[in-house]
Amino acid sequence: MAVEIIDLRSDTVTQPTPAMRQAMATAAVGDDVLGADPTTAELERLTAEVLGKEAAIFMPSGTMTNQVAVRLHCLPGDEFLCETDCHIYNHEQGAFAQLSGVVARPIGGQQGHLTLCQLEDLVRPDNDHMVRTRLVCLENTHNRGGGRVLPYEDVAAISRWARSTGIGIHLDGARLFNAVAATGIAAQDWSTLFDTVSICFSKGLGAPVGSALAGPAEWIKRARRHRKLFGGGMRQCGIIAAGALYALQHHRDRLAEDHANAQVLAAAIRSSPGLRLTYEDVETNILFFELTGGGRSAAEFTQALEEQGVLVLVESKHRMRALTHLDVSTEQVERAGRIIGSVAARWADSVPANS
Ligand SMILES: *Cc1c(COP(=O)(O)O)cnc(C)c1O
Repeated sequence: MAVEIIDLRSDTVTQPTPAMRQAMATAAVGDDVLGADPTTAELERLTAEVLGKEAAIFMPSGTMTNQVAVRLHCLPGDEFLCETDCHIYNHEQGAFAQLSGVVARPIGGQQGHLTLCQLEDLVRPDNDHMVRTRLVCLENTHNRGGGRVLPYEDVAAISRWARSTGIGIHLDGARLFNAVAATGIAAQDWSTLFDTVSICFSKGLGAPVGSALAGPAEWIKRARRHRKLFGGGMRQCGIIAAGALYALQHHRDRLAEDHANAQVLAAAIRSSPGLRLTYEDVETNILFFELTGGGRSAAEFTQALEEQGVLVLVESKHRMRALTHLDVSTEQVERAGRIIGSVAARWADSVPANS
């Protein structure tokens, strides 16, 4: 009998739903590079409205929206401040340097969380020896911070400071709607703290492709030039924009289900021998967990899970990552939790703990 696969590697693994595919199949399209794709235009309008910004622009990936944002804020020889574990710094090939001649200044945070007192002395003086500090980038929720929601008041304080100091502030909001679902704070109330905001439709929202960058109309007009430069001008992209539009309209409210399912998984990991949650507070849909005993590696543990149909990602020697999403039900998460528990118990019996 074939094992049923429960894929918890990422919230990017979802399949478009039948209704989403229907919307994509029937989308009105045109050449968007010529500004003639009505579905993309509607997605951009709704994105701007939801985020309370003047305008938004659709792009193929979150990497591109972030890198276009850096490009909007910075010139060659400029620097931006960011948290050490953020996506822009770690997972985008240093594109800010490769594409825009910009340097990053990473600052270590608590699970992705920076406070104003860590930043306020870092803006460099006007001096010919130095790069110019032009921008601060924050990430919410914070992926490598275990899906942590940044505390709103701290973000607001950083925002007030950035504005009074005259530097820009960008949000990598690939999972902003998870932060909205977890806190009840509206997307507009988060995004008003930032000049530019990136969101992903292909993470928790469950669309097959796409991200958007929102901000002032004049900036988004400039972003259109940079998107073309970076190879992101798309023709009849209404086909994929329709999936993103469907996700934005229908899948925001259901993110709370993913968060509830993450709690189910967290409880299973807490009660599994030889495992612990890396970050005890699971706030959204991301969990990091690790082996507490020595001996075996995360790679071996995930292999044993995979044999039983449960897929998770290896993060480091002893650490793994699991995410809940649209394509895993509560029942499947409960089953995954039992499988994780049974593999852990088998190991606890066979491997002498040395920690
Ligand atoms: C996934 C992700 C992105 C964008 O990734 P793409 O794969 O380029 O769409 C950006 N920031 C964060 C925090 C992410 O998790």
